[in-house]
Amino acid sequence: MDFRDALSDVAAPYQELLKASAQVCQEPSASFGGDEQVLQLIWQMQAFEGAALVLVDGTPVEVIEPGRWNHADGPDFCDAVLLIGGELRRGNVEIHVRPADWDQHQHTNDPAYGGIILHVTWFANPPAKTLPKRVPHLALERVLSSYADVQAALQRLEGQHTGRAHPCLNRFQQEPLALDRIVVAAGYHRLLAKTYRFVEQAEAANTAQVFYEGLMTTMGYRRNTEPFKRLAKEVPLKVLEPFSSKTRFAVLARIAGLLKEDQRELWDLWWESGLQPSLQPYHWDFTGLRPQNHPLKRLAGCLGVLHHLPTLLETPLADLPKAISKAAELLRTELGYKTALIGKQRAATVTTNLFVPYRLALGTLPTSQLSVLPSEDISMPMRDTWMRLTGSEDGLPTDGLRQQGLLQIYADFCHNPNLMCETCPLGRGSEPLTSES
Ligand code: SF4
Repeated sequence: MDFRDALSDVAAPYQELLKASAQVCQEPSASFGGDEQVLQLIWQMQAFEGAALVLVDGTPVEVIEPGRWNHADGPDFCDAVLLIGGELRRGNVEIHVRPADWDQHQHTNDPAYGGIILHVTWFANPPAKTLPKRVPHLALERVLSSYADVQAALQRLEGQHTGRAHPCLNRFQQEPLALDRIVVAAGYHRLLAKTYRFVEQAEAANTAQVFYEGLMTTMGYRRNTEPFKRLAKEVPLKVLEPFSSKTRFAVLARIAGLLKEDQRELWDLWWESGLQPSLQPYHWDFTGLRPQNHPLKRLAGCLGVLHHLPTLLETPLADLPKAISKAAELLRTELGYKTALIGKQRAATVTTNLFVPYRLALGTLPTSQLSVLPSEDISMPMRDTWMRLTGSEDGLPTDGLRQQGLLQIYADFCHNPNLMCETCPLGRGSEPLTSES
């Protein structure tokens, strides 16, 4: 027997390992087309196609419980149970696309991330600089064959989840125009519901005050919406009206317990106003807060918007987010803030959730303008709904109206615990829509 034949036989098991390692030890894949939310979905559904999970340092990982998906602030999955190198661990899992996202989000200094037992990323390199040594790192590109395979696995699992492909998917593959009509109609429905809520509140209070409370609440970083709401109620618009925007800022900051005595000029402005701080302290949550979300910056942005409100109410919808961001800058230089006070995405949210209902309620917004509603960042519910309806991420709506429609379908159908796909009306070709509305 030729030595080649002889050695090939005995070397074959090792050559298989080399082949397998060539598959898993690839460079960061340029073909990764997902984002953090897709990775979260992969983790939640454990869409690993039977691949053995191994940390970047070679330690095997077994997932006993992936944990509870957390859609609020803090770690992405809570109360996971993992077997890492044979050791049972319970705690939270954080997921990012790149290891360095951990550094960028400054999780190490955030107590909310103290209980992390696994950092999951798609890419393996470059490693995070600040990830504590005790936190193991799992890089999915090292254990999964390709992103395309992962997407296919996700779709298969979604199908299994409901026992079969979603009825709506079968239907809309045949009727794409009906799908668009329904999504657009759902978008309109959502805006209408927001306007009804606004009108209801305005019946109980002054319309301008309702807008002001809404603005303050929308400005609050999620965990600070309550103190912002309280502040707007305790210091109503009427009380602020006689003052300049800078004095308004000083008053609100002082009453909210956010102003320091060494901020002399602002402190004096507050003192001259004669308004007293609340006896009940405000509870602001600074945990994991990014600098641009600091309540003082949000407050300053808010007062800029209020100052320019008459002009903003006349601004065409398509130009409104830009105009809101610009208006928010009113006090920025004077207060010494270096970065924009209201970014593009926040301005789009304020437009959709506040200006649109307010202007619809006032009757000053032609509904024809709603077709140019600004788009927001694609969120998990939008993506999830679109994938259910169409079977892929292709063609995810980039306009605000259809995005609102997806959110509505998610809330009313796909995420409705009382509705089964089997009985979902969207899966049947009986939608009564006959026009583009
Ligand atoms: S609930 Fe309805 S719209 Fe959502 S996936 Fe099921 S069939 Fe489709």
